[in-house]
Amino acid sequence: MLPLIYHASYSQLALPLHHRFPQFKYQQLYQYLIDNQIANAEQFHQPSAVDRHWLNQIHSPDYVTQLLSLSLSSQAVRRMGLPLTPAVIERSLHSVSGTMQACDLAIQHGIALQLSGGYHHAHYDFGSGYCVFNDLIASAVHAKQSHDLSRVLIFDCDVHQGDGTATMSQQYPDVISCSIHCQQNFPARKQQSDIDIELPKGTQDSVYLDAIKQTLDLAIRFYQPELIIYDAGVDVHHDDDLGHFDISTQGIYQRDHLVLSTAKKLEIPIACVIGGGYSKQPQALSERHAQVFIAASTIW
Ligand SMILES: [Zn+2]
Repeated sequence: MLPLIYHASYSQLALPLHHRFPQFKYQQLYQYLIDNQIANAEQFHQPSAVDRHWLNQIHSPDYVTQLLSLSLSSQAVRRMGLPLTPAVIERSLHSVSGTMQACDLAIQHGIALQLSGGYHHAHYDFGSGYCVFNDLIASAVHAKQSHDLSRVLIFDCDVHQGDGTATMSQQYPDVISCSIHCQQNFPARKQQSDIDIELPKGTQDSVYLDAIKQTLDLAIRFYQPELIIYDAGVDVHHDDDLGHFDISTQGIYQRDHLVLSTAKKLEIPIACVIGGGYSKQPQALSERHAQVFIAASTIW
């Protein structure tokens, strides 16, 4: 039975209704998976809030204190893109813990999928692009320490570059950052990951899937990771509100299937997070995010 991770707080951000962050998509995806019998309620694990000590280990303790005491400067809050409220902090603490739990469960079962996560624009001492804490780095460091792993690969297929992951991973030589993203998109100033693959606006399925395959093969051959954290962002979709790629829903399925089956074949545990995806049509967005869950259930 595929282990899945979900917490009700993921969609409880209490944002103004016009806010661009798709606050309801987590709950909608949960419901979509149940309604379409892709998952059942028994598969879900519920994370608790992450312990502050883990946040202090990877983020600036001052930044952590300012967030938890709701005293971050208004300029820093603007950059983060989310209001500084107890609800936003609460869901961020659960999201980090959920990705950590996905890694633990992946090591145990070969795979686990988390219905949040992928907050790759969170940096050491500031948040940006709707990202508060960097759950990918926190989970890679946590898994490495708890399970004595030699190397962890963060394989980030969100359409935006994982700039926070890139800079933060430089502190951890055994955490490998790999980002495949659209060159002409947020963030304007790209950072240096261990591997960056920049593709142009309008990239279509075949070129994209070739790039994914070659990059994943290269990253695994070169770094020999003992865990992969896979950011399966769907903002690569041609109808996404913030992406500039031209990828079909079938292309997303093929990408997810390729990544998961490679990990399975090589017996590398893989923890998946859903990453970015932006649309005002909840059904369409849930369908895109569901592809990784469908792919996983056909392989495992
Ligand atoms: Zn994104």
